[in-house]
Amino acid sequence: MEALSAADLQLVLDEIAQAMREAPDRGTQACYIPELARVAPDQFGIALCLADGQIVQAGDATTAFSIQSISKVFTLAIALGRLGDQLWARVGREPSGAAFNSIVSLEHDKGIPRNPFVNAGAIAVTDAILQGLQPREVLADLLRFLRMAAEDDDIHINKAVAASELANAHRNLALAEFMAAHGNLRNPSALTLGTYCHQCAVEMSCVQLARAGRFLAGLPGAPRLVSPARIRRINALMLTCGHYDASGDFAYRVGLPGKSGVGGGILAIAPGRASIAVWSPGLNAQGNSKLGSEAMERLARATGWSVFG
Ligand code: GLN
Repeated sequence: MEALSAADLQLVLDEIAQAMREAPDRGTQACYIPELARVAPDQFGIALCLADGQIVQAGDATTAFSIQSISKVFTLAIALGRLGDQLWARVGREPSGAAFNSIVSLEHDKGIPRNPFVNAGAIAVTDAILQGLQPREVLADLLRFLRMAAEDDDIHINKAVAASELANAHRNLALAEFMAAHGNLRNPSALTLGTYCHQCAVEMSCVQLARAGRFLAGLPGAPRLVSPARIRRINALMLTCGHYDASGDFAYRVGLPGKSGVGGGILAIAPGRASIAVWSPGLNAQGNSKLGSEAMERLARATGWSVFG
């Protein structure tokens, strides 16, 4: 397929945004986090950052939303930078085939979560980077990383969202305590979970998120935050585990490494070509943005950007 110009891509995004604006079935917001349940479901935004640094966007692409589990990609990058391969003693690299908040495989695997993107795995990663630091230092590091990645200082944590999740965090607390029972938690579960909920409550717009993902796409102008060898591996995990028990379906339909969050955002990486962010608050049965997934599928079809050619 011939390379598409920014003007061609603008037409593609406008068409996708129009179709998504009219979509009758928009999914349901994450109701287990009351602050997220209140977000208006009629919103849709999409943004691309291209190899030459240009941004192409449509819809509500500059509205900030809760990045939730998309934060797990960035904390993984930070944890690998700090602990290197030692991290893999505490978390696996296999798809779970289970819901993002499932506890099922934890018992079978003796407290070692399947991968860094299911909740248990991300809680273990956060626990690992908390080692020797205070929660506020870990969160400041994360914000610094995101602001450098996006080259934008206007990225913050929404404390009301964090408090709303923490007040209802029974399941995640159970995951943390279960890992503690197997010796796979180094800090008190309340401390690790408080940090985790704040990390998930970072807010970014599609434009900011697409810019923050440039380093993962290996785009020429991107800040060099992580080595190319690690970028390859983070992308591999995004492709195989980034959408939980819908990771296979996302790979089949879209063919790009991606990471979703229950705030309705998805970050997808077209290596060497573009970093892509989409947002619509309504989720499908697997907890991934319903219209976001559909938009990614349309975009991949229109551009031919699938990593599988
Ligand atoms: N903070 C959310 C949770 O732990 C993140 C889940 C998600 O985005 N899939 O439940």
